[in-house]
Amino acid sequence: MKIALISPPIMDDFWGEPRPIAMDAVRECPPYGIYLLQAVLRQAGHQALVIDLIADGSNSLKPYVHDLADCGLIGIAATSMSWPTACDVVSQIRDLQADIPIVLGGIHPTMFDRYILSTFPVDYIVRGEGEVALTSLCTALEGGRSVESVPNLSWKDVDGRIFRNPAGPKIHKEDLGQYPIPDFGQLPMKVYKGLSIESSRGCVFDCSFCSTSYRRSWRGMPAEIFVDRLQGMLPQVERTELGMVHVIDDEFSMNPKRAIEITDVLCDRGLTPSLVYDSRATDVLYDGFVPAIAPFTGQFLIGAECGYDAGLERIGKGTTTQILEDAARLLYQHHLSERADFSFILGLPWETAKEVCQTCSFASHLYATYGVRILLQWYCQIPGSRLWDADRAAGLVNETMYNDYGFFRDLYLFRAGVKLNPAEIWQISQSVEALQQMARLRHPDQIMVEYGHPEPIALYFPEFLMGPVCDGLSNLREVASPPRGNTDPIRVEVIARAPVSLDRPLRHFGA
Ligand code: SF4
Repeated sequence: MKIALISPPIMDDFWGEPRPIAMDAVRECPPYGIYLLQAVLRQAGHQALVIDLIADGSNSLKPYVHDLADCGLIGIAATSMSWPTACDVVSQIRDLQADIPIVLGGIHPTMFDRYILSTFPVDYIVRGEGEVALTSLCTALEGGRSVESVPNLSWKDVDGRIFRNPAGPKIHKEDLGQYPIPDFGQLPMKVYKGLSIESSRGCVFDCSFCSTSYRRSWRGMPAEIFVDRLQGMLPQVERTELGMVHVIDDEFSMNPKRAIEITDVLCDRGLTPSLVYDSRATDVLYDGFVPAIAPFTGQFLIGAECGYDAGLERIGKGTTTQILEDAARLLYQHHLSERADFSFILGLPWETAKEVCQTCSFASHLYATYGVRILLQWYCQIPGSRLWDADRAAGLVNETMYNDYGFFRDLYLFRAGVKLNPAEIWQISQSVEALQQMARLRHPDQIMVEYGHPEPIALYFPEFLMGPVCDGLSNLREVASPPRGNTDPIRVEVIARAPVSLDRPLRHFGA
């Protein structure tokens, strides 16, 4: 059977023209799941074609009309962020062929299978892992058999009745490595920054804001098997712009001992990949982890999340500010801090301006003291997390809010999560911008403080309507300009010393 697998990018509508945004604008790495399923289907004897719209930077199927014409099945993978593009792709397919079977996969269709099957012109949804389910679905369709025995499948019959087949067992960790390696041999040259690979699935934690699949469970491939797979795809790394390999795991170092074993195998085989991965501060502190992983680290992200212990406890990440600081210090000592991104969330649903400032202050401290990069992102209501489920149960959010381009610009959706008022958010933005300016003086070639002012606030509460919410900003800018050639570390106390009026509560990230 011929199957087309489509990866819709995360897009937003710019005056009627959808364009890729977020990670799909920079094209960090190819969508691993789609390329893996292509390899699995080919191994099962099918003709599988990937339509990589992320690489194209487009939502248009026009270049593929001929390829789609004789497909027996079309698969589309979607997260909540790429779901609006997936809807667009579904509608283009239906305009081309009214009766071609469409199967959806990925976390968003998995969560909302009943709603999507009853609302959109699609036939099947694979819930969770697709390796067994998709192959089994293709075999059933090719043989003209019933799909009732296909595991993990939700489907509707000709009368529109929806059925949910039972889920099959999760793939065993030993078996994860037995599937064929994705074929990146046809990737367009130098479009992606790096390749993608998986070494584990899931995470033993269940952080309250996190919507990743397979929380509270973790399956890691044995070190030798992972390195076999990595070695198998390394020749194709030359097709990428930066020659990196993104390990797409939720937490690559969930078992730091296994991560060290991986580095041992890499050393034994003389391999020197430049890896990009996610880690946790507690793993960084595991004895021997940092020196072992350093030679193979291109960039890595630590989900720091909060700058105060009560918030970290509410999230349930198993870290404290002391652990985060110890990790940053250790990275500094091993000259790894500039390759470390510490990401923080601002405006978690319980937070007031005071807690958000504590987080900004702590993040600034880690940057100024240890030189780690900091990413400050406002909380976004993404389905699947414990926080989202609670708001769904309270009737504040629901699955219909994610169908259109730009849903993250929706003021209601933003303010259902972030409880600060617009003036407080503007004050925080202005202070972070001041910090960014100082960071630019110290690191002109690298963005060390990444931050985006929330779009719903910019759109509905523009600065000119808000009045002078932070009248110390111009002073901060002057104070932040050091003499030419000054290479002293920028100290966050500079912000605190700026002559912002003392009765303003949000003046002092660095105080
Ligand atoms: S945020 Fe990270 S540590 Fe927490 S549940 Fe998600 S993947 Fe696991």
